[in-house]
Amino acid sequence: IRVEDKLFQNRYLVDVGNAHIRVKPHTKPSAELLALLKVCPAHCYELNTNGQVEVTPDGCVECGTCRVIAEGNGDIEWDYPRGGYGVLFKFG
Ligand code: SF4
Repeated sequence: IRVEDKLFQNRYLVDVGNAHIRVKPHTKPSAELLALLKVCPAHCYELNTNGQVEVTPDGCVECGTCRVIAEGNGDIEWDYPRGGYGVLFKFG
């Protein structure tokens, strides 16, 4: 079974208006931000039409990869979702 098919079995409770990951405003993405486009297993990071990196954390599996890569240099802010929100793995 492909990783994408496994991820599809997860369920999420989205905390609307309270994204648990935020990308700091930037004009040109750093190497770390560009790396997130490739390493996030849930493909939460995308380039917008202005060439900036955006995150849509609704499908985030809280693996922490982006946190390790890009939180230390201030490119992103990362918190766990509030209690009761986020990924539910019991279906996977
Ligand atoms: Fe993607 Fe993992 Fe970061 Fe969530 S924690 S956005 S799944 S890299």
